[in-house]
Amino acid sequence: MAIGGGRVDACSGRTFSSSDPFTGEAWATFPDAAGEDVDRAVTSARDALGGPWGDLTGFERARLMRRLAALLERDAERLARIETRDSGMLLRHVAIALAYLPEWLYFYSGLADKLEGSTIPGDKPNFLVYTRHEPVGVVAAIVPWNSPLQLLCWKLAPALAAGCTFIAKPSELTPATAIELADLIDEAGFPPGVFNVVTGAGSATGKALTAHRGVDKLAFTGSTATGIEVARSAGNNLTRVSLELGGKSPHVVFADADLEAAANGVALGVFAHSGQLCLAGSRIIVHRSVHDALVQRVAAHAKTIRLGDPADDDTDVGPLANQTQRDRVMAYLESARGDGAVIAAGGEQMRDLPGFFVQPTVLTGVSPDMAVAREEVFGPVVATFVFDSEQEAIDLANDTEYGLAAAVWTKDVHRAHRVAHRIKAGTVWVNSYRVVSPSAPFGGMRASGIGRENGLEAIAAYTETKTVWVETSGETRDPFPKS
Ligand code: NAD
Repeated sequence: MAIGGGRVDACSGRTFSSSDPFTGEAWATFPDAAGEDVDRAVTSARDALGGPWGDLTGFERARLMRRLAALLERDAERLARIETRDSGMLLRHVAIALAYLPEWLYFYSGLADKLEGSTIPGDKPNFLVYTRHEPVGVVAAIVPWNSPLQLLCWKLAPALAAGCTFIAKPSELTPATAIELADLIDEAGFPPGVFNVVTGAGSATGKALTAHRGVDKLAFTGSTATGIEVARSAGNNLTRVSLELGGKSPHVVFADADLEAAANGVALGVFAHSGQLCLAGSRIIVHRSVHDALVQRVAAHAKTIRLGDPADDDTDVGPLANQTQRDRVMAYLESARGDGAVIAAGGEQMRDLPGFFVQPTVLTGVSPDMAVAREEVFGPVVATFVFDSEQEAIDLANDTEYGLAAAVWTKDVHRAHRVAHRIKAGTVWVNSYRVVSPSAPFGGMRASGIGRENGLEAIAAYTETKTVWVETSGETRDPFPKS
């Protein structure tokens, strides 16, 4: 782990292993953090807040952040290889994502020196009233295994810009790159304790963090079920909390859409990383007149996907994260088959490959009440639904407890905006899918979460607004004079 500016073992000396999802073999060993280790990390982060880091100006924090960004740029390829080994994500994709990741630090470094408060024109002439945006304090970030370093940096960049200190709790399945990041943060010259990493299971290390009174803000990305537990625990101490959770995101495809582009968008959104994406577009809501043509294209695309070693350049899609995940996906497919769904492509697990693979799968004949239509499968599985009218399409798109993302495919500009405005989701792409940027807010409505990451507004989640009232006349006045 990394606590107080150096690598440390767990107090107990206990360790656990992380496996390579392609070979299924353990490949790295990490300390198994218990409550006492979490205490150590919180103390380290609190001390740093009151130490030299707390005294830095926004200009100085920005300079350190830019240095870190440059180191991430330098090491992007090395980190991508580690991430692929730990998570099973396709090296080609991870390399592109990590080469882009420094932009988050550059973007938020540009805000570190612009956290301006305001002067408030009040109704009391003898007062100067102004606001300050102060760091919320110690931030604990709990992140999942599907894009470990990226999702960590989405939280870290605004937190550092705001002047917070940080404790990262990566998933026990993919802890490696968080520790590599700690080394880069030391190399960049951040004071010890600004960034700490505790490794271990959610049920122990994660829980200890969410219950800790020394944590001022919890920034969580993961499943909706865990998010509810995190929020409940945060509620006990009134710890600030933001939640980026699961989804069941729809593609709404109108009859006038470019079907080839829509099919590519669907494939990119649900087959990449074997569908282990929070924003997986797992429901296709398509106009009856083009249903068969679209299914044919998506199914053809699914059948050409080469599954294999995620580090291999010829591979299109790597494995699922572990056996539990593979068995879960297969159980959804069995249940859909049993309920009468038709398999237009895929549907089987790949037994001739090591690791945990399920074929990219297209299901038709799915009714909105089936589990595969309602629950987050987190696998390479997409289901189609048919509509006749625009209203029906919107109703189907919103017929979910989630609200993370959606796409609208149409050439009609009026309809594109109209439908985008009526879908309940934090992000709607028109004629595209899965584009993100440090400057564009991202997050979920309803069961997909609370709060937004990225964009100007994300930094507010890492600051507290303080109002300062200054009496300017120097006269002693009774604020409650007798009449
Ligand atoms: P998960 O909820 O099981 O675990 C996420 C993190 O929480 C891990 O670090 C885990 O160790 C920790 N954790 C587990 N139980 C905990 C507890 N009781 N207290 C504190 N921490 C606990 O999720 P996962 O399986 O790792 O990731 C997949 C999920 O993440 C999917 O549902 C996916 O949609 C979601 N996700 C959301 C986004 C988004 O931006 N909205 C992005 C990526 C993934």
